[in-house]
Amino acid sequence: MNVPFHKPYITEEEVASAALQLREGWLTAGSRTVEFERAFRDYVGCGCAVAVNSATAALHLALAAIGLKEDDEVLVPGMTFTATAEVARYFRAWPVLVDIERDTHNIDPDKIEEKITGRTRAIMPMHFAGQPCDMDEICAVAKRHGIAVIEDAAHCMPSWYRGRKVGALGDMTCFSFYATKTMTTGEGGMLCTDNAEWARTAGILRLHGIDRDAWERVNSPRFWQYDVVEAGYKYNTTDIASAIGLVQLKNVETIWEKRKRIAERYGEAFGGRDDINPVAVRPDRVSSWYLYTVDLNLECLSIGRDEFIGLMRDRGIGLSVHFIPLYEFTYYKKLGYDGRDCPNCAWVFDRTVSLPIFPGMTDGEIDYVIGNVTGLLEKNRR
Ligand SMILES: *Cc1c(COP(=O)(O)O)cnc(C)c1O
Repeated sequence: MNVPFHKPYITEEEVASAALQLREGWLTAGSRTVEFERAFRDYVGCGCAVAVNSATAALHLALAAIGLKEDDEVLVPGMTFTATAEVARYFRAWPVLVDIERDTHNIDPDKIEEKITGRTRAIMPMHFAGQPCDMDEICAVAKRHGIAVIEDAAHCMPSWYRGRKVGALGDMTCFSFYATKTMTTGEGGMLCTDNAEWARTAGILRLHGIDRDAWERVNSPRFWQYDVVEAGYKYNTTDIASAIGLVQLKNVETIWEKRKRIAERYGEAFGGRDDINPVAVRPDRVSSWYLYTVDLNLECLSIGRDEFIGLMRDRGIGLSVHFIPLYEFTYYKKLGYDGRDCPNCAWVFDRTVSLPIFPGMTDGEIDYVIGNVTGLLEKNRR
């Protein structure tokens, strides 16, 4: 049997919606994108939603909206995708690495305050695998220091924190609709905020710094006229993507149920074991189950993370590692970063693997993964 790490969940409904949009003939961002923004805003419960072509673009525009400057600092978890940190470098500002919790892989709220300096402008929590970080604690620290909370919610469609959806918790929330994410438009992203001024800035910067977008202009008498108020970017999405996104959004909880069911099966199989620790989910939050990540208990095993991945691969099962700590990469090393202040990132990195979890997984595939994981663990106990 072959079980890939991921398969996108696209039904005939998405295909029909995209086809309709193509036949209609408006391809770039237009009325369908406005509709998508409104539906998304209403779903997560935020004031404004700005559609862009990636979460990275949304993170970049969020930092632009708060007016990030050279040599400012933003706090990021040491273990995240490079996008969370790289956007600070677009401004020649500095991502400051904060250690994570071993059991949830989320930023450790108790390690944040010690990293705040006079130059800190924002905290950027990343909700690992779709489980929200300790947002009450994070927002309280941010408030005390007058800095923004910009969430990397690339994994969070849908996720809940203390009964509230991710999307209206911090100052700005950035979602991803990248191909492998829980909700996809191929490529895409959304910036959510209650701050209308920030949303306006992001809306202008996403399309060349033009004060009105193509869709607004088409209906006005001086349709040809526009002003450029900034050197903006080319970050707009397309109506083709939004046509797909509207369908994915409508079905987002049905799709989430499918992932949840797989996570529950894994939880039953691995929960009681001493040789493997699934990432812990706190009782007051609900994960999107973007990832099902486990940490091997190396003290019980005669093999390490790499051998485990290799052996699973031999059995036709695709695994992945989330994430390589930022300080491991050449770019960040050259800037002088190291793992000194992030011992838990190193601890997790040594033993973490993510198992296949995608909505179309069959019971046979789930059983095959469970059987091989438990089989390998039993065979390689020390
Ligand atoms: C996927 C991902 C991103 C980037 O999303 P894009 O839409 O591809 O820009 C950012 N942060 C995290 C944690 C991600 O997993």
